[in-house]
Amino acid sequence: MREWIVAGNWKMHNTIQESVALARAIKEGTSSLKKGEIILAPPFTSLSNVGEAIKGSKVSLAAQNMFYEDKGAFTGEIAPGMLKDIGCTYVIIGHSERRKYFHEQDKDVNLKVKKALSVGLKPIMCVGETDEEREKGITRSIVDRQINLGLSGVDKIDNVVIAYEPVWAIGTGKVATSAQAQEVHKFIRGILKDLYGSAANDIRILYGGSVTKDNIGELIAMEDIDGALVGGASLKPDGFLGIIQNIAEKK
Ligand code: PGA
Repeated sequence: MREWIVAGNWKMHNTIQESVALARAIKEGTSSLKKGEIILAPPFTSLSNVGEAIKGSKVSLAAQNMFYEDKGAFTGEIAPGMLKDIGCTYVIIGHSERRKYFHEQDKDVNLKVKKALSVGLKPIMCVGETDEEREKGITRSIVDRQINLGLSGVDKIDNVVIAYEPVWAIGTGKVATSAQAQEVHKFIRGILKDLYGSAANDIRILYGGSVTKDNIGELIAMEDIDGALVGGASLKPDGFLGIIQNIAEKK
């Protein structure tokens, strides 16, 4: 049985004080959960304080990005070992905003995924097609390329989480229908089966893109949707806890 995940990607939001308040509210609101994994990805500046705030709870810490070198003259970058040091368990890699605004390519994503795994961080590798790509009917080939190149040379898949986030659904309020999402999730699981055999059955594939407590119910009912990567709705305790509650009731 795959344990579901709800991950909050706070992006470039929240001061340290705001982060700690939000993290405390999430910690309290999830204290009685019996199953599932809750992950918070605050901005780098809040990692340490959020880590403190969630200590002793079932909430784990993630970074939103990292570099693929261990150390060196890379001004402005953060090394994977530094993320381990500060208490991260997970790291989001290849988010579409990184690909779009910071020109990350599949080869960068691949280097980061491999490096994260090598230091014991669990990558949440993001994939997804743009509006234009969906219109052209090439969603599958885009996702196929992103998965195959992103995981190239990764022999062991157990610690990898995949997030399918159609770019047209991120921050737009245009959520994929449960059928659209399930179709791609099933397709992704098929690729993973080709690459890793039965281990693919244990890999969590999260959906992301305008997830709210009102639309998560239908999405999470789908067989291959194992949780959510949440942006906007993760910034308020009510919205995020509502998503968690809906998933906990259904999975
Ligand atoms: P959104 O963002 O929930 O605000 O659409 C999701 C994400 O970018 O991970």
